[in-house]
Amino acid sequence: MDLAAYRTDAETFLAEYGAAYHRHFAGLTEALPLDEIYARHGALFSPEAVARLRERAASASGEDDGRRLRMLLDFAVEGCLGLETKALDAELAQREASLRIDLGGASVGFREAAVVQANEPDASRRAALEAARLAATEEALNPLHREALEQTRALVARLGWPSYRAMCEELKGLDLAALARSTDAFAAATEDAYDAVVGPAVARTVGVPLDRLTRADLPWLFRFREADDHFPQERLMSSFVATLDGLGLDLAAQPNVDVDVEQRPGKSPRAFVVAVRVPQDVRLVVPPIGGRDDYTALLHEGGHLQHFASVDPRLPFEYRHLGDNAVSEAFAFLFDHLVENPEWLRRRLGVEDEDGALAEHARASRLVYLRRYGAKLSYELVAHGETPPADARLADAYARTLSTGVRVPWPSATYLSDLDPGFYVAAYLRAWALETHLRAWLVERFGIAWFAEPQAGTALRALWRDGQRLSAEELLSELTGARLDFGVLLSDLGLAEPPAA
Ligand SMILES: [Zn+2]
Repeated sequence: MDLAAYRTDAETFLAEYGAAYHRHFAGLTEALPLDEIYARHGALFSPEAVARLRERAASASGEDDGRRLRMLLDFAVEGCLGLETKALDAELAQREASLRIDLGGASVGFREAAVVQANEPDASRRAALEAARLAATEEALNPLHREALEQTRALVARLGWPSYRAMCEELKGLDLAALARSTDAFAAATEDAYDAVVGPAVARTVGVPLDRLTRADLPWLFRFREADDHFPQERLMSSFVATLDGLGLDLAAQPNVDVDVEQRPGKSPRAFVVAVRVPQDVRLVVPPIGGRDDYTALLHEGGHLQHFASVDPRLPFEYRHLGDNAVSEAFAFLFDHLVENPEWLRRRLGVEDEDGALAEHARASRLVYLRRYGAKLSYELVAHGETPPADARLADAYARTLSTGVRVPWPSATYLSDLDPGFYVAAYLRAWALETHLRAWLVERFGIAWFAEPQAGTALRALWRDGQRLSAEELLSELTGARLDFGVLLSDLGLAEPPAA
């Protein structure tokens, strides 16, 4: 196997895939021509390529060699699975983009409905929207999701792994059982404080006591519309630009980045960054929903953007494009948590959190999110384990696990669409922990206003240059000597003593 040729072809594939993905989910084209792209690069993802890379990875000499080969193998397997389900994925994307739901005589696009729901002040209309979305998911999308999951499981078995979970753990170097133990411990440790942390924000924003909160209300809770005055649309880009400027980064002088915050029908309701070529061509898409969410989304994706755009172009392909996504996610969270930093609010938006409502809401939202993702990890371990339960029992397990984690009655309809490929849930959870460590490190060196210190920008750029060569655990160990521990989130939320330095 010619590894140099494999790497060149892999990079071309990612560029074509990224560009097509970008055009479709930015709402620029309806088509998502994955077929053609996979057809041109199918050899990358053949079971033979997977087998050859697996042999090479098993007999790799030296740490760097082994690291790169494991990343390449992970890439090949992911592509092999993508190839297997590509027809279904394209159909799902097209169906989702064209699907419409009926709402009391008015017709709303399925993707758009999520945005409408987050902006709907009336609880009964939110409930109706949610019910319609769930029904459409169940009816139009789940049959395709189900088929894709079955195809994935069958291929994993053919490739010789006992389960999708085992495969991901090996290829991504993850210990998911250990992570689940930490998130379970986090859930247990926050059980008693949950009402006190989440209740006041729910009462203030949703206007109901915590025990009457529903899943349909959550988008409205997170949307936090009463804070809109603090987060005006017209300051979105300028505060982002000023934030980068404070770190010594001049967005206008970066020829390799593209930022799209326009409203457009067919645009994905989810913000994203596509690294078409790292670091030469990185694109950011944010669908403006309004208010603080736009700031969070733009800063989050802005963190990814700056990370990928700052990677050393001389690094090998694997370290520029592949590796541990928890690393890039941690930089993204580092940026989006600025909207919770009182000093950032003061300096970049002229906002004083006088009655503490912003801090209260931020803390509540974080606890809900962290517990939701902990529950999601537990569920995904079941769904992707060696002996997953039959379909109906899997849906029940999903609803039960999420209901316990988030403490609202959680519907089962999204039990298939809520499965992220490659245990991305673990990347998020580890990223939250890494971000907390990184933020503490920055605050210790540069103060609470680290975002306004060019030297902090220099320190970040030094980390960004390395792409995703190191895992989140390794990066932290090299930077501070600390061990990555999810428990750090407890003290960050003020629910435990900070760990000894
Ligand atoms: Zn992200």
